[in-house]
Amino acid sequence: MSMEYVILKNDKNAKYTIHEFNKMTEVGRETFKGRICCPKCHGDAGYRKTSTDGKVACFFAKHVDGCRWSTSNKSDAKEGIEDTNIIEADTSTFGVRWNYRTLKSDEGNSTYGKTGNNGTTNNKNYVNNPAKRTQAKLTMNHILTYAEIDKLNEVEIDISIGGKTKSISEFVFNTDKIDNTFINERAFYWGEMKSYNKSFINLRNTNEVSIFVVSEISQSFDDRYKDKFFKVQKSNLMIVFGKVMEARNGKFLIVLDDVNKIYFREK
Ligand SMILES: [Zn+2]
Repeated sequence: MSMEYVILKNDKNAKYTIHEFNKMTEVGRETFKGRICCPKCHGDAGYRKTSTDGKVACFFAKHVDGCRWSTSNKSDAKEGIEDTNIIEADTSTFGVRWNYRTLKSDEGNSTYGKTGNNGTTNNKNYVNNPAKRTQAKLTMNHILTYAEIDKLNEVEIDISIGGKTKSISEFVFNTDKIDNTFINERAFYWGEMKSYNKSFINLRNTNEVSIFVVSEISQSFDDRYKDKFFKVQKSNLMIVFGKVMEARNGKFLIVLDDVNKIYFREK
């Protein structure tokens, strides 16, 4: 996977996402030169701004061999689902409409652009901006990564789920937070896995919530994830997009009805 955030060499708890860097001025970014590194292997990192041919801004680093944040990492490629669960590609199934809000820090800069699978153009601020469209391609792994480091607020993307349009951070919840008020709510839920037992993925830190894999997809779920799943299930992170139901015992289930709506990986 690409590096979604960097840390300071002299303060490993100071994390900066690509979104934060995009919003900085050139001068602001300059102050980070030589001071940032890869969060996993601590290799020297840098920032590459959006290129004129539309490649999105990104971080790069001199990764140590085998660092899983290195894009050339072989085990990464083997996992194979790294970037397949791309939300944008699934806008129809998610009922999600991606669009960018005007960034307050971007005054005088016409960065208001939005994309949608229906090509919504009834907003006069609409700007068909290819660079921004590429940037709107968020994977579930991205969402999980930002949730993990508590930086979802930096992702200024609005999405529509169930007729409600809100900032993405308002549709992402830690499974520990689930209570009665979440019943029937479709959203992204993330947490730490404990075990996989038939149709249920049980989670750590909470006895109250499990992921329920519906029987219609249990075969495709196994085909696609089983090998990887048993390697990573213990104390690793997962994110699902699903609806919360109350189980008979008063506990909660997040219903997973599509193999594309789950992503899990090492912590
Ligand atoms: Zn690295």
